[in-house]
Amino acid sequence: PRVIFSGIQPTGIPHLGNYLGAIRNWVKLQNTAAPGDTVIYCIVGYHAITLPQDPVHLETERLNMLASLLACGINPKLSLLYNQDQVPEHTELAWILNCITPVGWLSRMTTWKSKLAVARNAGSEDEIDESMLNLGLFAYPVLQAADIMIHKSTHVPVGDDQTQHLELAQDIARAFNHKYGDDLFPMPQQLSTSAKRVLSLRDPAQKMSKSAPSDKSRILITDDPAAITAKIRGAVTDSITEITYDPEGRPGVGNLISVLAACTSEEPTLDLDAIGRSYQGRRIQDLKQDVADAVIAKIDPIRKEYERIRAEPSWLRDVSEAGTVLARERASRTMLEVKRTVGLARM
Ligand code: ATP
Ligand code: MG
Repeated sequence: PRVIFSGIQPTGIPHLGNYLGAIRNWVKLQNTAAPGDTVIYCIVGYHAITLPQDPVHLETERLNMLASLLACGINPKLSLLYNQDQVPEHTELAWILNCITPVGWLSRMTTWKSKLAVARNAGSEDEIDESMLNLGLFAYPVLQAADIMIHKSTHVPVGDDQTQHLELAQDIARAFNHKYGDDLFPMPQQLSTSAKRVLSLRDPAQKMSKSAPSDKSRILITDDPAAITAKIRGAVTDSITEITYDPEGRPGVGNLISVLAACTSEEPTLDLDAIGRSYQGRRIQDLKQDVADAVIAKIDPIRKEYERIRAEPSWLRDVSEAGTVLARERASRTMLEVKRTVGLARM
């Protein structure tokens, strides 16, 4: 049987990239799981605090994220849904993994390297400077490995921005098994979706991201139709009038085409070149209108469901608490085995 695990940071309402690249697939995996499979989704508060967060705001975002996942179709009767920060075994295992992870492995992470590069060039005050690069930010891929390993996960559905981190988790699991001569941890495999990484609407050189400064760079699952239309109309493309699908040379237009495809079909084989050709002789405004309509058709039912669910915070807390109890049960079983293996089990 499979143990499917994934996580999302409570750093803002999920955007279209989170939905198409991850959450939609989570729902599908939940609904198609075989009897005996375990499906686990986790809101990872300990990852969120690797960057500065306002405490009051963070509490709210944790509830918002829970409501968002439920609105997207995660069903707590089918999936184990909980908040990582309520299950201390995550950080307990992370510490043990820190002690077998070479620093060099973490220095090679592109997420770290790009944060470092940005910080070293920081000019304005709202940018991350070097003093904000803390040890937690450097080490958080190890916490991610612990999140996966504490459940002995076998399959991890994440977007392709996470491939390098998943490979690190595999290396850490292998290092643990090798060092202690035990096959305690299975090798977690990535489950990718056919959906392309969704790019920022303001800067198609970047992926769409919750933590990017501009609100106009992303479409939230709570955006109403007017907001969606305005953001897509404002999407940065290029100065060529003809529409072609050329994701390398013309990432802005390519992003619109791939979002259109992802919102109108879940077929992995959809031919993006052909979609591009079907717009021959038409204007970018026409493409943008079709993209807006397709996104609204996907997002609007989710927005309405979110508003309904978010109005019931005490029910949301009950869902989270029930998840915490089940997650701690699983996690503490693994932790006991790990501590026995490492020599930290009893006095
Ligand atoms: P942050 O900026 O705070 O890191 P994020 O938008 O990167 O937020 P995460 O919580 O880090 O979101 O990631 C949640 C999931 O969404 C992961 O599986 C990640 O691979 C996926 N994901 C994030 N951004 C995109 C994107 N632009 N396109 C496709 N998938 C994405
Ligand atoms: Mg991220």
